[in-house]
Amino acid sequence: MKTERVRLNTARDANGNGGDVATLAAERQPPDLTPSGRGSGAIAAHLRRAIMNGVYTSGDQLPPEREIARKFGASRTTIRNALHMLEEQQLISRKIGSGTFVKYVGARGDEEIAEVTSPLELIEVRLALEPHIVRLAVLHGTARDMRAVVEALGELEASEADHEHFSQWDQRFHMAMALATHNPLIVSIYRRINDIRGHAQWNKMKDKILMPARIAEYNVEHRAIFEAVNRRDADAAAQLITSHLMEARQDLLGAQSM
Ligand SMILES: [Zn+2]
Repeated sequence: MKTERVRLNTARDANGNGGDVATLAAERQPPDLTPSGRGSGAIAAHLRRAIMNGVYTSGDQLPPEREIARKFGASRTTIRNALHMLEEQQLISRKIGSGTFVKYVGARGDEEIAEVTSPLELIEVRLALEPHIVRLAVLHGTARDMRAVVEALGELEASEADHEHFSQWDQRFHMAMALATHNPLIVSIYRRINDIRGHAQWNKMKDKILMPARIAEYNVEHRAIFEAVNRRDADAAAQLITSHLMEARQDLLGAQSM
C-alpha cells in the first residue's frame, strides 16, 4: 500500500499539479473571468476562453504578467507558462519590452473563408486530404459507393468539350470518393471544399485551364484513380490522386502567370 501511495504522488508531481485533469475541469467552466484553477494549464484555458469569447479581441494588450498573476493568485512563472501555451496556440503574441497582444481574429464565417482562399490554397488543402480519402475509400468503400464514382466518371468522360459540365462532375467525382470513406467529418469538410471551388476566383481560372485536351488528360487520371480504388490498391490510388492534384496545381500556377 505504501509503495502504491508513493508512486501515485510521484505521478501527480510529474504531471505538474495534475495538469490534464485541471485543464479539462477548467474547460468545462462557464466563460466568466473568475479564476478556476491556479495551474498554468487551467489559467491558459481560462484566458483562451476569454479570447475566444471576445472579452479580449485582436490587437488588445493583455494586462502585465504581474497583474494577471495577482488576479489568479498564481506565481509569475505559472503565468509565463500559461502565456507560452497561448502563444503556441497562436492566440497571442508576446513582444519583449512592449507586452502581450491578442492576435486571434475570431472564427471566420464560411463566406469570408471562401472569399480569402485562393485556388492555390484550396489545392494545398486537397493535397493534404485527398490521398488519405482514397485510402479510406479503399478500406470502407462499398460497391454502391463505387457505382456513384463510376457514374461521375461517365459524366466526366462525356464532357470533354464542356468545361462547365466537367467542373461540376469533377466536384461530384471527388465528392463520391469522400462519401466512400463513410467518415461524416471528411464528407462535411469536402462539402466546404466544393463550396469554395464554386467560388468566383475559380471560375476565372477554369476558362484558362480547361481546354478539351486538358480535360481529356484529367479524365485519364480520374479513371486510373477509380480503377486503383476499385481494385483496392491504396498506395497506387494515393499516388495517382497526388499527381492529379499536383498537375492541377501546376496548371493553376501557369494560369496565374497568363
Ligand atoms: Zn479531378
